[in-house]
Amino acid sequence: MAHHHHGHSHDSYPELNFSPGAKWIKSLTRDRTGTFTGGHFSDVNLSSILFHRRLDGDENITLLVWSAPGLSKPSFDEAMKQDFKPAKKGDSFGPSCDCKTNHWFKIAVNVPSDWKDYERVQFEFDPGCEAMIYTTDGTPLQGITGGYGGDRRVEYIIPADARAKGTHDFVAEVSCNGMFGVPWNGDIIMPPDMNRTFKLDSADLVAPNQDAWGLLWDFTALRELVGTLPGNSALQNKALYVANEIMNVFSKNDPSTIIAARKLAEDIFGENWEKKGANIYEEGAKVAQIWGIGHCHIDTAWLWPYRVTQQKVARSWSTQVDLMERYPEHRFAASSAQQYKWLEQLYPKLFERVKEQVLAGKFHPIGGSWVENDANMPSGEALARQFIYGQRFFESRFGKRCDTAWLPDSFGLTGALPQLIRLSGMDYFFTQKLSCNVFPHSTFNWVGIDGTQVLCHMTPVDTYTAQATVGDVNKGVTNHKNLESSSTSLLVFGNGDGGGGPLAKMLENLRRIRGAANESRELPLVHMGRSADDFFEEIKAQSDQGKRLPNWHGELYLEFHRGTYTSHGSIKRGNRKSEILLRDVEHVATLASVYKQDEYLYPKEKIDDSWEKVLLNQFHDVLPGSAIGMVYDDAEQLYSEVREDGNELLEEAFRVLFPSSLPLISANVDKLTRASTLVGYNTTFFPRRDVVKVPLSGPAKALGGSVLQTSADGCDGYALLDGAQGRSLVTTGELVAADLQVSAQSHGEGHFVLKNSQVQLTLENGRITSLLDVKLGRELIPTGHTGGLLIFEDRPNYWDAWDVEIHHLEKAEKLKFEGVKIVASGPLRASIEAQVKYGKSTILVTASSFHSSLKPNSRPLFTFDATVDWHERHEFLKFELPLNIHSDVATYETPFGHVQRPTHKNTTWDAAKFEVCGHKFADLSEFGYGVAILSESKYGFSCQGNVLRISLLRAATAPDAEQDQGKHEFSWAVLPHEGHFLQSDVPIAAYLFNSPVHVRFMPEGGLPLVAPRGFVALSGADNVILETVKRGDLDSDSENRRTVVLRLYEAFGGHATVKLHIDAELRVVEAYTTNLMEDDVDAVAQELVHTEGQSTIKLAFRGFEVKTVKLVLAKEG
Ligand SMILES: [Zn+2]
Repeated sequence: MAHHHHGHSHDSYPELNFSPGAKWIKSLTRDRTGTFTGGHFSDVNLSSILFHRRLDGDENITLLVWSAPGLSKPSFDEAMKQDFKPAKKGDSFGPSCDCKTNHWFKIAVNVPSDWKDYERVQFEFDPGCEAMIYTTDGTPLQGITGGYGGDRRVEYIIPADARAKGTHDFVAEVSCNGMFGVPWNGDIIMPPDMNRTFKLDSADLVAPNQDAWGLLWDFTALRELVGTLPGNSALQNKALYVANEIMNVFSKNDPSTIIAARKLAEDIFGENWEKKGANIYEEGAKVAQIWGIGHCHIDTAWLWPYRVTQQKVARSWSTQVDLMERYPEHRFAASSAQQYKWLEQLYPKLFERVKEQVLAGKFHPIGGSWVENDANMPSGEALARQFIYGQRFFESRFGKRCDTAWLPDSFGLTGALPQLIRLSGMDYFFTQKLSCNVFPHSTFNWVGIDGTQVLCHMTPVDTYTAQATVGDVNKGVTNHKNLESSSTSLLVFGNGDGGGGPLAKMLENLRRIRGAANESRELPLVHMGRSADDFFEEIKAQSDQGKRLPNWHGELYLEFHRGTYTSHGSIKRGNRKSEILLRDVEHVATLASVYKQDEYLYPKEKIDDSWEKVLLNQFHDVLPGSAIGMVYDDAEQLYSEVREDGNELLEEAFRVLFPSSLPLISANVDKLTRASTLVGYNTTFFPRRDVVKVPLSGPAKALGGSVLQTSADGCDGYALLDGAQGRSLVTTGELVAADLQVSAQSHGEGHFVLKNSQVQLTLENGRITSLLDVKLGRELIPTGHTGGLLIFEDRPNYWDAWDVEIHHLEKAEKLKFEGVKIVASGPLRASIEAQVKYGKSTILVTASSFHSSLKPNSRPLFTFDATVDWHERHEFLKFELPLNIHSDVATYETPFGHVQRPTHKNTTWDAAKFEVCGHKFADLSEFGYGVAILSESKYGFSCQGNVLRISLLRAATAPDAEQDQGKHEFSWAVLPHEGHFLQSDVPIAAYLFNSPVHVRFMPEGGLPLVAPRGFVALSGADNVILETVKRGDLDSDSENRRTVVLRLYEAFGGHATVKLHIDAELRVVEAYTTNLMEDDVDAVAQELVHTEGQSTIKLAFRGFEVKTVKLVLAKEG
């Protein structure tokens, strides 16, 4: 303020005033700003002068097109060899179905010589769908997103040297799918419209008026300030004042008014702000509140198949590399090793460009996982592999692992994750989806079921596809739930789901927002040029290593998308069966490779290949069943490859371990002789007893001596495989104890009993009326209630394949078994068969009783094997058991442990858990007794009050109109047990239920077995499970570096000390516990005690702890 003389200055303030005054009617002024671009006045307002020139004639533009046949997606080189035909703007192509999906354009432009003074010349290419621009030698340059949505990006800037030359040739590959596949009628979740055509709306050479575009972005930022900030704030009013003045100054016919208008905007963004470029982020207060990181969520498959994603990755990421070259502050985070691998295989030149930016620190691989997986259903081991395969890929290509795990869109997150994240070398976790819940935190320590924590941020901006508006930036503060302990937020911006990523206009907007924040304290400071890792480092420092942050314990349950535990039954089955098959392959191949190393090499590459397929299908819209039908054709194909390759690998390894043995399958029956013997291989480390079905017809009659029960028609027999010692090798046993015997009886019309000396199950009038613990005389079904199948009307409010709503519980119909008959009556196997006809569907169920568990307080299992021909729509099939058991919580298996969830609806949080995810079991226990339902391929369960249910089949029609239609086969089992869940062997019984013994037969005089009776065993604690046996990832047979890696976990939630006994023949010389990456650095040596025949190490666990043990084998030679 200037110094004044005494008294007032008379010349600064006029004495007379005849004007009407300046008071505005604010709302009218604000509305006026809506008329400055586009709309009714577009021929006279700012939009009318965005381009100096526009040409679309064939004297300047030559287009040639070749359409690839069918859904084929030829490479650039293949496409270039084809016969191209003339094309022009306005041409239509498609439809997507009959067959022309990918169209290649050779484009040549002539830039008129009088255009040389224009600041920029662009080719504007809008095919109405997605496209990619290449150089003529096949280097991908950038993506194009046609159409008129918010993600429109149709300009390709003609390089300066080409402008100088006057001509430019390039190539465009057009793919007939929009950002969100090919939606029907604009509703994105409807099945794709395969008949949609696309039109080449623009193929123009344009000279944009860069000053006008600058003003457009200025004006947009001003309007966002007006729309976002509180109306009584100085900045909000000033922004409106300036926007209004800009409209007063602007004249379409006078270019100098654009410059003047932009000068006015400097009142808000700061003087000469634009000349500062990226340096604008160096000014103003030093503490940034919002950290902007560019991102592009590319669903690995969803409303489009994997092959389309491969193109989306190339388009989106090339665009970002291009932007990095123009905006030095731009940083971009991209997850999913699989997407990088596709890029490397299909677009090697672009991969090199990306790699350059990764090494320059601008393009940030993030997440450390193979894909952004579903985080409810993958097994513990599969979740571990997501990180192991992901981290190994990133390390191998970029020399560095990730520090931050990244699952913004997964439909709920298991409490097993924090431990696995830390064990794979990451401390931080970013997510977002729980913004669908009312969740109390933004930045917190997420503490998993075992007590491990990760530093977690759920962006208050509530999206991973922010548009970088003033509103987004502001929300980072206003919606932050823990400002008392941390005041920074991550702004993850860029178009996504279908790819795209940040646009230039977003980077432009952020510079303006930062400029405005440097001038005014009313806006949070947005920070650019750093990484998500840096962001977490900063939070860690601010919060005293997390001590000042709140904690969240246990799973991050998503109160949404609960149908995804059941939708698309065959995918769930494919996942579970593949996980177990690969576990068995690794186990058996490891043994073969260490016991017969001279003739068998561990097939690591083939195993990796299968794992990568399984991990890919665990993507968060594939395994949940929320993708279009086309995706499932591909997924089923991958599972069938895994099945075929896995079985082949198993067989090769078994032939080494059991020379001259054959699997007991029908194709081998004619090779059986009288002297053949049955032998089983148990890949679990639990004692077990199994009933196996043995063919008895033809030459197989020879095996009659092994069977203890013959089927009614004499074609099959049942043998007992007795692995009571818990060894790997299992041989046929005798039915010695009378209490092992089971029977099936009919007590007149519609009244059947399956029983043994311990439990019995009664079926009356098509329903289960009694489940009796004979030993205790305890009836488990409450009087007047029945168990069995039931069907619910399943009409979610919107997200069809995703959601089952709480109201489905209000409309149910109990189904009755009909045509019940006894098909096996003991003493080893007792079964009754029954049928349910409902609507157009048939459900065939065989219920059997068998004593499998060897724990004294456990009871025999009742298994239910179902074959369903399913033709319903929007109906939900479940199996239920009302139980005489009272507890406020039920227990469900989760990866590497279990989780308890309420059986009541006390609070909205409790009520929300009306349908939950479980793996191999769900259990309802009270003091003294409990009943579990075991599952071998279903993941949906619920326990409402005392009614325990397993979810079997749904039938959504969007986005896959035919979801779950047709044939299904699945099983479940009912396991009563004396004692509470924590005293039971439910996890073990469920494990065995999922892992049948591999049954083989040995011909007479076959070669001696190589397989050890048991090469590793646990003792001292029965709450530790040995999950995985594999060769070390870092092994090298050629360098004689041989290790066996074991993964174990504590399964009940309490401490344990366990001894691990290893066959001395393995010649273990050192033992370590390591992280998931099997790193030698930080590995902890374990004391190895060698005694006669074995080596032993002792391991101490805390509840739900996962341990990786690396056994170093003696060097050969
Ligand atoms: Zn997603």
